[in-house]
Amino acid sequence: MDRHAKIAGIRPPDRRLGEIAEKVLNGARLTTEDGLHLLRTPGIAFPGLLANFMREKLHGKATTFSVNRHINFSNICRNRCSFCAFRRNEGEPGSERLSSRQIVDKALEAGRTGPAEIHITGALDPLFSLCDALAVIRELKAAMPLSTVKAFTLVEIDHFSKMSGKPPEEVMALLKEAGVSAFPGGGAELFGEDIREKLCPEKISGERWLELAGMAHESGIPTNATMLYGVGETDEDRIDHLVRLRDLQDRTGGFMAFIPLLFQKGNTCFSGIRAAGPCEQLRVYSVSRLILDNIPHIKVHWVMSGLKIAELCQWFGADDVEGTVHEERIGHEGGADTPMGLTKDDVRSLIERSGRLPLERDGLYNPVRTR
Ligand code: SF4
Repeated sequence: MDRHAKIAGIRPPDRRLGEIAEKVLNGARLTTEDGLHLLRTPGIAFPGLLANFMREKLHGKATTFSVNRHINFSNICRNRCSFCAFRRNEGEPGSERLSSRQIVDKALEAGRTGPAEIHITGALDPLFSLCDALAVIRELKAAMPLSTVKAFTLVEIDHFSKMSGKPPEEVMALLKEAGVSAFPGGGAELFGEDIREKLCPEKISGERWLELAGMAHESGIPTNATMLYGVGETDEDRIDHLVRLRDLQDRTGGFMAFIPLLFQKGNTCFSGIRAAGPCEQLRVYSVSRLILDNIPHIKVHWVMSGLKIAELCQWFGADDVEGTVHEERIGHEGGADTPMGLTKDDVRSLIERSGRLPLERDGLYNPVRTR
């Protein structure tokens, strides 16, 4: 452990952390028990140091971001996930289903500043079909051929498959042909059966989500992966989620980024729950970086984490920051008190204030040449 002490000037607080540090320094894989120990360590400095070691080994001082535009095509959903403040019934006040013209107009609105990435998600809307989805993507690509379209979560893919009667592989192939470059990481929530039953009993199982992610990767469509946390899950639930993602990534290599999503409890039946504090957030980022040794990027979604944590966690494992966004609705329906969007200069400054080097990327993590 002396080697680590020399690097960081900090000795591990206990023997077990010393053993974990040796593994990290030697590029060895951490176990479930290691992950649990890291999550249960009282201090955050040492796990953070290890996560930063891995983050800098992979990405140096750079933090990437994209100029992106979030568009939610509908909030009308046939599911009733208990943690969701976004969904509405058809005709309920606040319910909204955008037409393809409205979706393209929103993308073009942001297009004046040259968005590299259009991010489209919504809900399981019984009146938004696979045909509608394909029409939107085709129209969007015709209007903005240089954009990267990251559209429809794997939960939405499953919904399109059921509605159309086409197997998911075919749905994915059609969307790819229309112009989808990647699938977002939403809908993963937490894979553990017990917690998933409490959060979203009607949603596809964790196993099914992973199966669909594997299909996407096999079809040459990369995806992201998320984890909802701070919603009453156990440490075991968190590590189980991370290890299942790592196992799939070993087989497919198709995950680009992992995004921890801090639960926003406003307007949900969880309003009495204790919110995850800053230390807990930083611990989740650190442990995610350390367990997910095969997923290249750990992304901080500043809308959910808050801007202060988005700065801090670039020293606790995160190497990628959510982009300009323009109009975020899902987290804000749950009470997020962050802005609806940021300018490109705001995002660059958020990264620079952290002491990192901002690098603009497109939706597939290719560098974008700018000024
Ligand atoms: S989380 Fe998604 S699937 Fe669940 S109710 Fe909300 S919009 Fe519907």
